[in-house]
Amino acid sequence: MALMRLSRSIVGTREAEAVSRVILEDGYLGMGTEVQAFESELAAFLGIEPSNIACVNSGTAALHLAAQALLKPGDEVLVQSLTFLSSFQAISAASAVPVPCEVLPETCTIDLEDAGKRLTSRTRAIMPVHYASYPGDLDAVHDFARRHDLRVIEDAAHAFGCTYKGRKIGSFGDLICFSFDGIKNITSGEGGAVVTSDPAALARVKDSRLLGVEKDTEKRYARERSWEFDVKHQGYRYHMSNIFAAVGRVQLMRLRTEFGPKRIELAKRYRERLGQNPGLSLFWSDLGPVIPHIQPVRVLGGRRDELRSVLEREKIQTGIHYKPNHLLSYFGGGKVSLPVTERIYQELLTLPLHPGLGSSDVDRVCDIIEQTMKRA
Ligand SMILES: *Cc1c(COP(=O)(O)O)cnc(C)c1O
Repeated sequence: MALMRLSRSIVGTREAEAVSRVILEDGYLGMGTEVQAFESELAAFLGIEPSNIACVNSGTAALHLAAQALLKPGDEVLVQSLTFLSSFQAISAASAVPVPCEVLPETCTIDLEDAGKRLTSRTRAIMPVHYASYPGDLDAVHDFARRHDLRVIEDAAHAFGCTYKGRKIGSFGDLICFSFDGIKNITSGEGGAVVTSDPAALARVKDSRLLGVEKDTEKRYARERSWEFDVKHQGYRYHMSNIFAAVGRVQLMRLRTEFGPKRIELAKRYRERLGQNPGLSLFWSDLGPVIPHIQPVRVLGGRRDELRSVLEREKIQTGIHYKPNHLLSYFGGGKVSLPVTERIYQELLTLPLHPGLGSSDVDRVCDIIEQTMKRA
């Protein structure tokens, strides 16, 4: 049996042709009209104005620039500890302080009651993470933010293409950050985007991705360059390249017809097969309007590592999303204790999910899990 991968990029001839077109026909590899076209197509997909989106070279860069656009040094951001390291590093890169919060065990989204206890006079923002593509109770997050005068930066890295109460993630809210890294719902090779209808924040993000050069984006989209300019803020080299955008444009087309339906089909199969298993918890049994990026489960009864090694022996790759950030030395090294998060961390196991798999692959994984969990 070949190794079954946890996740992988699904790219092929069409992406290769798009890259060749940029190289052979345009020859301009930096940020230019291909990025502009990708931004317009993303905006059309999300149902927003093209002026409300800025593509960058990673999801981490998107989070960093969103944080930098809103926050001052020392400002605190409420964020669930159970998230990818990027969420935390992006906040601290903006000289702000990530304040680790608990998650709700049923969804692994931020626990607002716990977050409420961590408010201080320096709290400026909250960063909900759409764990495994599920946005949780976003209305409650926005209510909480309104009550406490906070900005909301959504880490929607898992949630491109998902909807909440009939509206696409990214089409409403405050600042929303997507990732297009190699294994996300769509990829541009590496990449990300910030979406917001706050013109000041977006202008700041657009300038910051190009070393802080004011209005450089417009110049580049007109195939010009800025020679005389001013810089008022710290900037970064975070712009997206035409090559990456060309890949992203093809992937965006494939999401609706191929990737979305495939991911949903596989995740539904996992739910049919494992949803009733007393040794497991699948977070939310109804998939809802979500295109799942990963398929985590909680393995109950202290049997996670046992199940993980059985699957490994059968050449089935698994993962653990995520090591809680408050346990990392740089973010406190466990100085604060988050009992719910720490317990869930011991139970988490992520099963293979990507559009290159078929139902029979999922069935094989589920057969092994069922057999293992039946053994006392
Ligand atoms: C992937 C991911 C990011 C960062 O995206 P990159 O494009 O890899 O930099 C941020 N947050 C979460 C939850 C992610 O899964």
